[in-house]
Amino acid sequence: MKRVCVFAGSNPGTHPEYKESAIQLGKELVKKGLELVYGGSNIGLMGTIANTVLGQGGTVIGVMPTSLFRGEVVHRNLTHLYEVKDMHERKAKMGEISDAFIALPGGYGTFEEIFEFVSWGQLGIHNKPVGVLNVAGYYNPLMEMIAKAVEGGFIPSTHKELIIFESNPMILLKKLREYKPPLKTNKWSELEYK
Ligand code: AMP
Repeated sequence: MKRVCVFAGSNPGTHPEYKESAIQLGKELVKKGLELVYGGSNIGLMGTIANTVLGQGGTVIGVMPTSLFRGEVVHRNLTHLYEVKDMHERKAKMGEISDAFIALPGGYGTFEEIFEFVSWGQLGIHNKPVGVLNVAGYYNPLMEMIAKAVEGGFIPSTHKELIIFESNPMILLKKLREYKPPLKTNKWSELEYK
């Protein structure tokens, strides 16, 4: 594991723990010699983690769609900034250059990004680990929703392991490094498993 892609709110959030978790994760990445890949913005938790990694002498790679985010929000002092055509190209690039994915607290943008990589993982399009930094219980309702979907027969129980929930950044990184994709499962209960 060399590069970790972090999805995070473009807002700082209402609780100081959210920003604190971005700082802690940023420091932990640098301590472990890991590079940060992220959306290239200078605002919210995105800006916090980028500035933390840069401030500790680490490497930060941004991936920003030129057309959508031209202007003041682009972080101008990254180690490298990829300018891509649109949001689709951005996620493809992030997926291609990263070895693991982590979500910090965030909103729709963060949810969408993390679930794209989980849903591709369940189809075997990639075998890279996906983690959620569950700061101050922010993602507890998401864990409940996943348990509900397993109970309701929409997610095979072995696919619960496709997202690693953890509140401590150091432990989360360790779990991502040790991740083994779940055994191949029949995702579709109506089809015969071959
Ligand atoms: P949200 O959680 O809705 O704030 O969206 C955050 C996620 O969406 C980030 O991980 C980014 O990849 C993307 N995103 C949202 N707003 C921006 C922005 N201003 N600049 C760059 N990326 C953004």
